[in-house]
Amino acid sequence: MSASALAAMTQEMSRTGNPSSLHGAGRRAHRVVEESRERLAAAAGAHPSEVIFTSGGTESDNLAVKGLYWARSAQDPARRRILCSTVEHHAVLDTVEWLAAHEGAEVTWIDVDSTGRMRLDELEAEIARDPSSIALVTLMWANNEVGTVQPVAEAVALAAPHGIPVHSDAVQAFTAVPVDFRASGLATLAVSAHKIGGPVGIGALLVRRDIVLTAVQHGGGHERALRSGTLNTAAAAAFAAAAGEGASRIAAEAERLAGLRDALIEGVLAAVPDAVLSGPADVGQTGERLPGNAHFTFPGCEGDSLLFVLDMLGVQSSTGSACTAGVPRPSHVLLAMGYSEEAARGAQRFTIGHTTTAADVEALVAALPEAHARAKQAGMAAKQSRIQTAGTGLSV
Ligand code: PLP
Repeated sequence: MSASALAAMTQEMSRTGNPSSLHGAGRRAHRVVEESRERLAAAAGAHPSEVIFTSGGTESDNLAVKGLYWARSAQDPARRRILCSTVEHHAVLDTVEWLAAHEGAEVTWIDVDSTGRMRLDELEAEIARDPSSIALVTLMWANNEVGTVQPVAEAVALAAPHGIPVHSDAVQAFTAVPVDFRASGLATLAVSAHKIGGPVGIGALLVRRDIVLTAVQHGGGHERALRSGTLNTAAAAAFAAAAGEGASRIAAEAERLAGLRDALIEGVLAAVPDAVLSGPADVGQTGERLPGNAHFTFPGCEGDSLLFVLDMLGVQSSTGSACTAGVPRPSHVLLAMGYSEEAARGAQRFTIGHTTTAADVEALVAALPEAHARAKQAGMAAKQSRIQTAGTGLSV
């Protein structure tokens, strides 16, 4: 957590008061929540009344996608289609699939190009096919695995003439690249505190004032009756502090991080010449990739092995792929970008943030050759075992 977020959280946690209570302590807590709402709104280019506090990005995505789908299909039962990019986070992807399995939604997947950017020509064609059947469009602002910044403004421009609402998951983008809710024309936008130096357990959904959502969670009618539950004053104050700090230094921090990221990419490609950068190169920060994201595939390597060896050497990285019941699966994002399962198996994501220094980048580059050599051995062994297993007809 950022120092200002930690200070705000610690201070509020030592106080009492339910912000919905009418006594003095309650009114004081209510003031803190409302000031936090104003601060968060200012950082995201929204009106305070458009901020709905939630428990995080996953809940915000659920409320937006289900809430829009239910409200729009209730207004007109013919609106059943959801247009969704193939590289969304599971918080959106699984919600959309759940609506298709249980609530009669029809999903149209919109492909991405080889850098992970949504194909606007496909979106345009799908909207033109039958605009009146579309409940919503959902397109993340920036991808969490490969860092690709999406053409959100262009997608809104295609949907808006037909009155189709667009939701964007901006969990990775908020305070990393400029995010202005008002200017975006989006119907809803999801953010999460723990991605921006705030605490885990709080997020927000920005909801444009003319947008109608059906609530997912019912109870005391908090947050415009869209998200019932006692508000977490301490977390709201810390979230707002992190958002204010992040938004105020966005240009300088993006430049600093993009410089480190470019050095990291150069260093990795020099240390392991057969590594392949995924997503847009964005050298010198052109706004096509998150400034703090670098993602590679290492041919012939097992991503998990690389992760574990790097971890032992003091570098914490990620494969980005989901692990279902202990079986690692290749990333749906890389597969959507056209990678083979084999290539996607060797994925590794390095993300840097406000505490990262040039020395950290050098440490990664120094550790990589040994980690790579060991992961490649593991990759060869795993491939051998897959070949043998295939021969026996067993599946693993
Ligand atoms: N959306 C994106 C793009 C994310 O990267 C994440 C978390 O990694 C989420 C949604 C989920 O957010 P949360 O962890 O706050 O539920």
